[in-house]
Amino acid sequence: MPELPEVELTRRSLERAVVGKSIERVEIRAPKLRLPIPAELATLLAGRTIRSVARRGKYLLFDCETGWLIIHLGMTGFLRHIPDPALPGKHDHLDVRLTDGSALRLHDSRKFGTVIWTTDDPLTHPLLAGIGPEPLTPAFGGDYLFRVSRSRRVAVKLLIMNAALLAGVGNIYANEALFRAAIRPDRLACSLTQEECDRLALTIQEVLRESIEQGSTYRVAEETTAYHPLEFAVYGRGKGLCTRCNGALEEIRLGNRSTVFCSRCQK
Ligand SMILES: [Zn+2]
Repeated sequence: MPELPEVELTRRSLERAVVGKSIERVEIRAPKLRLPIPAELATLLAGRTIRSVARRGKYLLFDCETGWLIIHLGMTGFLRHIPDPALPGKHDHLDVRLTDGSALRLHDSRKFGTVIWTTDDPLTHPLLAGIGPEPLTPAFGGDYLFRVSRSRRVAVKLLIMNAALLAGVGNIYANEALFRAAIRPDRLACSLTQEECDRLALTIQEVLRESIEQGSTYRVAEETTAYHPLEFAVYGRGKGLCTRCNGALEEIRLGNRSTVFCSRCQK
């Protein structure tokens, strides 16, 4: 599933590819993903220029002069700029065709993505207004984590994956950040010390930054729809050995998501 680094990399690649370009037409091939795709998009977007591509949490925000096209990639979405678009495949649900012959193409095999149009400030849209602070901004840090965890008797992994408390951190980076911080994912959030919150805030920022820098698991510009297995320490390694102590990793379910950790290194 695309998380903050994947969405940010998508944003950066699309920013380079489409900003300043004009929209010729829109082709909608699925009436509905998680929500209906607004049918009026075709009329609203034709002739408009894409002025910027921003991101809030896992949402991409395209400034299209008269309003904002907001896209969430859901579980399996890919949004690519295709210079010379071939015929769409089965899961290519939306094309924004540009006047230079290229296209922005949304591919989403499980259809959990979202496409919205708004003429208001996109940050005030009901789906975005309640998103917590961006982890790579000064609004987030150890003090913030300590404060919001005091009253929460929930596993710390679920707390940092709660989008209302922290934007963009999903299962991959929650697993990795907790391993690096040496904190068990099933620890009650309210049991964390200030020092542990400081450490965890830093490792969350570290894994996100590194992933963005390394190009992440998600090669947006390439013609692929698969994640690339980078070197994760714990994510997806439930049967593996700890990279720190060489003991067997453990796998549990938290919030119905696979959670991998080392009970010797993480306390
Ligand atoms: Zn270990």
